[in-house]
Amino acid sequence: MNVEEFRAGLRAWLDDNDLTPGPDHTLGGHMRQFARVSRALYAAGWMRYGWAEAVGGLGGPAVLRAIVGEEVVGRRLAEPGPYSMLEVLAPTMIDYAPAELAARMVPRLLSGAEHWCQGFSEPGSGSDLASLTTRAVADGDNWIVNGQKVWTSFAQFSTRCVLLTRTAPGHDGITAFFVDLDTPGITIRPLRTMHGVDEFCEVYYDDVVVPATRMLGRPGDGWRLAMDLLPYERSTCFWQRIAYLYARFDELIAQAREPDESALGAAYLALHMLRCRSRDTQHRLRDGERLGPDTSIDKVLLATAEQQLYDTVRDLLPGTLELDDTPWRPEYLYSRAATIYGGTAEIQRNIIARRLLDLGKE
Ligand SMILES: Cc1cc2nc3c(=O)[nH]c(=O)nc-3n(C[C@H](O)[C@H](O)[C@H](O)COP(=O)(O)OP(=O)(O)OC[C@H]3O[C@@H](n4cnc5c(N)ncnc54)[C@H](O)[C@@H]3O)c2cc1C
Repeated sequence: MNVEEFRAGLRAWLDDNDLTPGPDHTLGGHMRQFARVSRALYAAGWMRYGWAEAVGGLGGPAVLRAIVGEEVVGRRLAEPGPYSMLEVLAPTMIDYAPAELAARMVPRLLSGAEHWCQGFSEPGSGSDLASLTTRAVADGDNWIVNGQKVWTSFAQFSTRCVLLTRTAPGHDGITAFFVDLDTPGITIRPLRTMHGVDEFCEVYYDDVVVPATRMLGRPGDGWRLAMDLLPYERSTCFWQRIAYLYARFDELIAQAREPDESALGAAYLALHMLRCRSRDTQHRLRDGERLGPDTSIDKVLLATAEQQLYDTVRDLLPGTLELDDTPWRPEYLYSRAATIYGGTAEIQRNIIARRLLDLGKE
C-alpha cells in the first residue's frame, strides 16, 4: 500500500471517528483511553497494518504502524508511554514466543484487550542487567520463579509480563518467560514517581509456577532476547513520541508571551535532528535490517531533545514550572527520566564508544 494514501485514509478515518479523550487525566484514565483507541483502530483495521497476518495483522511494511502511532499520539488521542509498550513487546513475542502463543496473544495486545509489561530491572540490576538474580528453577513441566523486579512500568494495569530470570550463571544463564500476572505468588506494588504518577511498580515473585510452554526461546536465550528488544525500546517507539513532542513544541509557541527565538530555534533543531535520525531508523526496519547498538544514537538524541524542549518551556513560560500546577509540570519532571529509562545516557554513550566507534573499554 502507498504510504501517503495510507496516511490520508487514516487521517480521514480519525476525522470521522471521534476518539477524543475524556476528562480523566489519571494514569488509569490514560490506560483506558489507550485501550479504547486500540480497540477502535483494530476493529477498523488500522492497528493491524505493519504486523504479520500470523499474529492478527494485515501485513505491509512496519512503517505503516509508525504512521498510526504518529497520527494517534500527535493528535493526543493516546499518551506516548503506554503506546510505546506495544512497539517494544509485540516484536519480541513474534520473534521468541512459540508460534501458537504469539498468534493467540499478540492480537490481544494490538486490539487493546490487554496491556503487557516488561520485567527486566531489579533493585540491584539496572545498567548491569546481566547481574539479575530472579531465579527460575525447572520442576517437571513448570518453572518456579522467585525474586523481585522493580520499575516495571504499568504492571498494575497489565495482564502479562515479559520476564527475565536466571536459570544458570552468566549471560547464557538468563531465560525469558511470558508470565500471567494473576498467577498466585505475584505481588504488585505501585511506586509513586516525582511527577506524582504511579507509573511503575515493584513486582515480587514468590514460588510462582510458570508452565514451560511460556518460555520465550530456549533456556539461556534471555540475554539475546533482551539485546533484540532493547533496540526497539531505543528507537521505533520514538516515532510517535516525537510526534507528541512536536505537538508540545507548537503549544509552547502558542503560550510563550515573550518568545526567545534563539531558544525556540535550538529546541526545534534538536527535535528536527531526532526526527531525521528516527526516520532513517524506521526505513531501515522497513527494509528488513536488524536494529542493534546503532539505536543508542536515537536514544541519546531523544533524551537530549526532550530535556531541551522542557528546559525551554521552563525558561519561556511565566511562573515556576516545578511548582505551578499546570500540565507542563509533570511533563517537565518526567522528561528528566528520558536519560534513564531504556538504558541511561551514560550506558548509551558507552555502547556508542565501544560498539560503534570501536574505542575500547576504557
Ligand atoms: C520512567 C522509567 C520507566 C522504566 N520502565 C522499566 C520497565 O518497564 N521495565 C524495566 O525492567 N525497567 C524499567 N526501568 C528501569 C530502567 O531500565 C533502569 O532505571 C535503568 O536501566 C538504570 O538502572 P538503575 O536505575 O538500576 O541505575 P544504575 O544502573 O544503578 O545507575 C546509576 C547511575 O550510574 C551510572 N552507571 C551505571 N553503570 C555505569 C557504567 N558502566 N558506566 C558509566 N555510568 C554508569 C548510570 O548511568 C546512572 O547514572 C524504567 C526506568 C524509568 C526511569
